[in-house]
Amino acid sequence: MSARQLVLRQRAELLRALCCGGSSEGLESVLDLLLSRGMLFWEDYQNVRVPGRTLCANTRVLLDLVYTKGDETCRLLLAAFKQVLPEAQRAGLSFGNCRTADIENTRDDTKELHGTAIQTLQTDRPGLVRRLRDRIEGALEVLLHTGSFTPSDCDEVQLPLYTPSQQARRLLDQVRSKGEPAAKVLLQYFQQTEDHPSPSIQEAPPKECLSYQKKLRSTVSAQSHFLSTYGGTSSLSLEDIYTEVQLELAQGGSEAQPQTGALGLEDVVGLVGTLNQEADTVLVSGEAGSGKSTLLQRLHLLWARGAALHDFFLLFPFSCRRLSSEQRELSLRELLFLHCCWPDGDQDRIFQFILDHPHLILFTFDGLDELMQSFSDSEQRHCCPTQCAPVPTLLFNLLQGSLMKGVRKVVTSRPEAVGPNLKRYLRKELLLKGFSPGGIDCFVRKHHRDPTVATRVLESLRSNTALLGLCHIPVFCWIVSKCYKELLGCGEGEASPQTITDVYLMILQHFFQRRASQRNTMGIGWVQEHQDTALHLGQLAMEGLGASCYVFTGTELQKCGVTEEDICMGFLIRSKDLSSSTNCKHYEFLHITMQCFFAALYIVLNNNLDRSTIPKLFQLQDRQPQPGFHRMCLGHCLIQQEGALKEANTAAETPNLQITATFVSGLLSQRHRSLLLLSCPGPTLDRKSKQVVTCLSKGMQKHFKSIPRPVEGEKKSMHAMPGFVWLIKCIHEMQDSRIARDTMAKLEVEHLKLTYCNIGPVECTALAYVLQHLRNPVGLQLDYNYVGDVGVEQLLPCLHVCHSVYLRHNNISDEGIRKLIEKGIQCEHFQKIALFNNKLTDACTECFAHLLKMKQNFLSLRLGNNNITAAGAGQLAEGLRFNRSLQFLGLWGNKIGDKGAEAIANALKDSQTLVWLSLVDNGVGSAGACALAPLIKNSTLEELWLTKNCITRTGVECLILALESNTSVKAVWLRGNELSPEEVEEMTQREPRLTF
Ligand code: ADP
Repeated sequence: MSARQLVLRQRAELLRALCCGGSSEGLESVLDLLLSRGMLFWEDYQNVRVPGRTLCANTRVLLDLVYTKGDETCRLLLAAFKQVLPEAQRAGLSFGNCRTADIENTRDDTKELHGTAIQTLQTDRPGLVRRLRDRIEGALEVLLHTGSFTPSDCDEVQLPLYTPSQQARRLLDQVRSKGEPAAKVLLQYFQQTEDHPSPSIQEAPPKECLSYQKKLRSTVSAQSHFLSTYGGTSSLSLEDIYTEVQLELAQGGSEAQPQTGALGLEDVVGLVGTLNQEADTVLVSGEAGSGKSTLLQRLHLLWARGAALHDFFLLFPFSCRRLSSEQRELSLRELLFLHCCWPDGDQDRIFQFILDHPHLILFTFDGLDELMQSFSDSEQRHCCPTQCAPVPTLLFNLLQGSLMKGVRKVVTSRPEAVGPNLKRYLRKELLLKGFSPGGIDCFVRKHHRDPTVATRVLESLRSNTALLGLCHIPVFCWIVSKCYKELLGCGEGEASPQTITDVYLMILQHFFQRRASQRNTMGIGWVQEHQDTALHLGQLAMEGLGASCYVFTGTELQKCGVTEEDICMGFLIRSKDLSSSTNCKHYEFLHITMQCFFAALYIVLNNNLDRSTIPKLFQLQDRQPQPGFHRMCLGHCLIQQEGALKEANTAAETPNLQITATFVSGLLSQRHRSLLLLSCPGPTLDRKSKQVVTCLSKGMQKHFKSIPRPVEGEKKSMHAMPGFVWLIKCIHEMQDSRIARDTMAKLEVEHLKLTYCNIGPVECTALAYVLQHLRNPVGLQLDYNYVGDVGVEQLLPCLHVCHSVYLRHNNISDEGIRKLIEKGIQCEHFQKIALFNNKLTDACTECFAHLLKMKQNFLSLRLGNNNITAAGAGQLAEGLRFNRSLQFLGLWGNKIGDKGAEAIANALKDSQTLVWLSLVDNGVGSAGACALAPLIKNSTLEELWLTKNCITRTGVECLILALESNTSVKAVWLRGNELSPEEVEEMTQREPRLTF
């Protein structure tokens, strides 16, 4: 079949493969390749990549275009797809006889084409994007310095919406539009910066090192081939199931330097986001189940296959969980060779090579939070690579850089475990935010090869948005996909899962069922049927948590009565033993959250439990170390080191016990009473349930009591302290609106601040569930979280008790906002919204216009740092024209230009309410300023912000004239416009209210 026919026949599949991740990276990479091979003209490229149009629409245009161009273009399109798509996404597509080599541009090829610098930018585009992504700032500086770019060109390139690769492409596009001189400047910049020695290897490594690399690659490849949670239960390989996760820079939260761009895997070790050039340690932090281990595993696999991390000759992967059970004192050399890969050749030479080439070596440490000892920099200094020391000493010195300075280290951890001691030594920090909505879609489709099943699962998720919210966390998404039969069967009588406990009960039943179906079917009392297993594993889980122990020996299993049959259920998996030093089998729970769930089951099902266990579990919110707690409540430690108990205060301990408490709340809810009643006497269940309710209520009271008295004239405001969101989640797990109502009845604040609280869709569901019972409306401040569109939808049930909603920097797009506004229009109290730094475009302005028309008590609309252009401003103006209440309008950092400013000015000229207007950094020139002048005549306006625009003298003259007949305006901000110092001086003298 010809390539053209292949493109036509597979249109739907090609479209899905490129768009299923939701990121435009794939399409843009295909475009780069086609441009570089001259298969697309620049005009074609611009027709395909229309900003604001959906990814699918752009891809369709490309497919149409390529089809009309004929067979050769189709052939190269298929080759480009083959190169760009990850293997799993390629599955099922037919590429005919196209090879990826067809699309790869060799340098020799292009040399002849190098007529002009602009042509070079086009023919070398894929490579330039790669080289530029880590150097955007440097390149912009040079372009700015040479006058090739204006500051607003730079801002456009660095829009926080873009990923580093997209910024690189926008930079190349911008350079092209500036012409040949700018292209030459950029190429020169490349030449100069690349003349510096690259970190790659200078001379050929010795033979021993090459064969060591080969062995290490094959060890790492074997270790990372399968996902651990699939071990024993099915054989899905990482390659088949890996789905892109959302990574963000941790420092991306300031208004001065907004950053929402998604990052790719290579950015973990790349230059992007570097805060401290001197430091070697990169931290990737994320909640339990957010995909930290899997991300590292993916990096390992890519390195082992030579598909990424090309700058690193050797990669040494470590698991802190396993390092924790290393009791010997080791030298660095032993640590590398014993824990990662034993050299067959001359060890001295290999180790010397490592010491001599630190910049070619990468260490990864997974799960720092699971280390027995918290990171401390008061640890003994240890710089000698051959001298022995306890493993934590080695690790801490490595991370600080006292040992093996120059070796790049990537560490993953849960956020709670990273204190200021470690932060001081970080090169940068990345936050892992789980799957995007597109990622969930992609994961489910990969998990279910049968597309009809995948579609049904996705439909079922979309009809249960609470569950969809949970699926943003990959481990939940995995469980839900795994239990698809149970999920799809839910329509018939059973309620679909709503809470995390529901999801874990579903997998519990699924695993039990799997074993039972080999013998007989399970009855309604399935928990009771497997009570022994639950108690054995529960005890193991609980004692493990108390001792920060996550890997268990056969003896430890025996102590808790765990039988072969219990092991066969599949909740425990064999540990990957990196160390060949021990022969005994080790086990761990499928995932740490599973260990917490079994600990919770133990607390609920064990009828002989100490009565103080539940209250003590919930007292954890204070985060105070509780001396004696573990011995009394969590049993004695399993592992004893030479008679001394292991130190139990690791950083993972509190979050693990919090997860356990969340499950305890869920299990003790009324909804699961009948399920547990066969295993537990009713009065005991009731007593435990009451204990939980009392703990939650007391916990909340404590938070409410901590609310300071308001300063006179200010609102009573509560800033959530650690533990608040956790308590809210526990209340949600109980699914009892009476409890939610009773707790909320006592909260009296006007403003609830939950900024930087790691609030994602899951937390939004819980918050809305509880907050909807507030007696009086509040301002809900959720700035700098990762609410996203699904989270916004989850918040809707509490919108009626919000007079203001602050959602700055939350990765929200037009779709999410449309739903929020649709509901907001019906909520009487809803009067203010702040959406600075999200992903809004002109597509959402119509719904704001509708809001403004419909709600004549709406006060404040802030849409700064989004992607609104003149067209959007025009639509907004349609609403403004009919509104009689708006006081604050903020459009800082959009691109409305003169035309947009004119439309807004026109619509607001008769406003009797507007007090504050910001059009800062919007490309507004003098025409816009003159159009705004009549607003100044308006009697209510107090502040007009026009900083960072391109207004000249003509525009300011209009403003001065308008100010002459106005007394209400206090300030007009004009800093950063196109005025000379002399003009500024003169105009300030004439009108002191102008601020330059
Ligand atoms: P963490 O280390 O943050 O606790 P894991 O990496 O262990 O989380 O992820 C838990 C489970 O979620 C994995 O075993 C896997 O099933 C699923 N998962 C996590 N990340 C991904 C991913 N990127 N692609 C596919 N599945 C993933």
